[in-house]
Amino acid sequence: MTRYVFITGGVVSSLGKGLASAALAALLQARGYKVRLRKLDPYLNVDPGTMSPTQHGEVFVTDDGAETDLDLGHYERFTGVPATRADNITTGRIYLDIITKERRGDYLGATIQVIPHVTNAIKEFVLDGNDAYDFVLVEIGGTVGDIEGLPFFEAIRQLGQELPRGTCAYVHLTLLPYIPSAGELKTKPTQHSVAELRSIGIQPDILLCRCDRPIPREERRKLAQFCNVRESAVIEARDVSTIYEVPLSYREEGLDREVLAHFGLDGGTEPKLDRWRQITHRIKNPEGEVAIAIVGKYTGLKDAYKSLIEALSHGGIANRVRVNLEWIESEVFEREDPAPFLEGLHGILVPGGFGQRGAEGKIRAARYARERKIPYFGICFGMQMAVVEAARSLAGIPEANSSEFGPTPEPVVGLLTEWMKGNELERRMAEGDLGGTMRLGSYAASLAPGSKIAEIYGGTRIAERHRHRYEVNMAYRERLEAKGMRFAGLSPDGLLPETVEVVGHPWFVGVQFHPELKSRPFEPHPLFSSFIAAAIEQSRLV
Ligand code: GLN
Repeated sequence: MTRYVFITGGVVSSLGKGLASAALAALLQARGYKVRLRKLDPYLNVDPGTMSPTQHGEVFVTDDGAETDLDLGHYERFTGVPATRADNITTGRIYLDIITKERRGDYLGATIQVIPHVTNAIKEFVLDGNDAYDFVLVEIGGTVGDIEGLPFFEAIRQLGQELPRGTCAYVHLTLLPYIPSAGELKTKPTQHSVAELRSIGIQPDILLCRCDRPIPREERRKLAQFCNVRESAVIEARDVSTIYEVPLSYREEGLDREVLAHFGLDGGTEPKLDRWRQITHRIKNPEGEVAIAIVGKYTGLKDAYKSLIEALSHGGIANRVRVNLEWIESEVFEREDPAPFLEGLHGILVPGGFGQRGAEGKIRAARYARERKIPYFGICFGMQMAVVEAARSLAGIPEANSSEFGPTPEPVVGLLTEWMKGNELERRMAEGDLGGTMRLGSYAASLAPGSKIAEIYGGTRIAERHRHRYEVNMAYRERLEAKGMRFAGLSPDGLLPETVEVVGHPWFVGVQFHPELKSRPFEPHPLFSSFIAAAIEQSRLV
């Protein structure tokens, strides 16, 4: 039997609903249950692909090529189960499907309404494909009271009545702010938020209360009474120092026990959490540290680089070191010499990015790393800029550039208009739609035997997730290879460059894909483990 847990949020946004959902999933998994996680996003974009990372954070790409919410990254990292296109839906997607059907005449003259058409579409999405799972955790984006969220709350309310008795639970994540002048954790915002939820017909079963200190008995009692939940269902979700400690802290507070009790399941046995204890211990007790520069463009909002930050920390876990990140706006290097900023750092990473702003700064960072023999990791845009740099400074092509920034006589990076996906030819036009039209999802690559990249992966055949519109131009391969930039990884048909490396440099690797999306705490990605290992070597030199 499949059981549903709906996770909603109240009081303020950014309480970490995605993380809370992922951590609960991990706890249930540690008890041997099969768990699936899904996310409902109330905004009107069809997917987050066209949204600015500074507004919405990173776009998480799945193997099957969907551009999804960054919470799906938490889901994957915490459960090890790869997310798919079918795990995330938005209001925009639902309306697009409904309106397409309406135009086709599929509704046979009916008036199309939020209830039942939109709510039915949401319910169908929630219920689809869950047979193999013991638990399906469904996170609703935004906070209760948001206008866009209403159809989603209505749909999950209806499901509570339609699914078999005892197969649904509602978990509400709220905030208990500490007010210093009163010296108290305040429960009123939670009371209001639960009142709001109840006004639309949803009675939460469990309250997950974010707070920065223990919740006194009296406040627990008050919350239970005013919010109409059991006292044991008021769960403290106190701030912890690493996100990988969250499943352990929820276990301490009895969240899993309460969820199981709700479903009438036995929570008496201990979940297997040893591996969580191990990584938490490793993170808290590093044996050394390295400093990595991230030269990017969205450095103001760290959520824009969520998976990257996690993957670097996994590289640290693999090498038992703390990875300290130095965030540098690449535009700074267009005005100033990079040396004073980068001296003393042990590795330089230029992440994915879009558009011309800051590109020359990234090129200067790549040059600094190449010339000074500092470990350099270029991801997607970071690889493209490293190739432009090598073309200009090594291969004698001063006008080398990317056609992403406008017409150029030397398109060392050019628009990708045709490529193979499996056996199918995919085609794009320069003036086509921006949404969902990049080279997206998992593609295989072949790595040259004996190359650095093959050594790092310990093999020559890989598959990684992509999200790009431009590519390094094969027409420049010979000239670049003659000067030591090796095209070591190629698409299986040999037509698209997938990785480059600088021969004779301790660690200079560019990859056209996004390895950070597949790194997990229990399986750190080999590129990140190797990059951090190289940074440790570098730290011994400086
Ligand atoms: N803007 C570049 C492209 O579209 C790089 C994209 C990225 O870094 N994800 O090819």
